[in-house]
Amino acid sequence: MAKNIERAKQFQRALWNAAGKEWEEKDFVESWINKPTVTQWDEWYEKGLVPVALCALCGDDNLRGAYHKSSGLRSEVPINLCKACYKKHYPYLFKSPLDQIIGFLSDYGCLILTLFIGFVLALLIICIIAAVFYLLKWILA
Ligand SMILES: [Zn+2]
Repeated sequence: MAKNIERAKQFQRALWNAAGKEWEEKDFVESWINKPTVTQWDEWYEKGLVPVALCALCGDDNLRGAYHKSSGLRSEVPINLCKACYKKHYPYLFKSPLDQIIGFLSDYGCLILTLFIGFVLALLIICIIAAVFYLLKWILA
């Protein structure tokens, strides 16, 4: 359905107030709501604040229905994000396999290249040593 930022703000304000904090407009940030810890979630749950059928960031009620696995008692907590916000926050889940390979290579390509060159050099050195030994054996025989 439609986005409703005010609804999202109200939801966040309720969570903050439950924690005994005063919510301000500047607190409407995206980072902390993303992955609540299990303790946080349990606290909110006890107080009846969660789960809610709206996105915590934009107020849209078309939720992604994703879960966040966390170490703790409760194994999984629902991520209160709509499809669009979820995609924005977890872009790596939406990459094609080719994009993932390219991303991996750009992150680790230098390391892989270094290891590969090292491997080739080591192989070359072993071959040279073997050849020298073979030649010596042939000359001395
Ligand atoms: Zn959203």
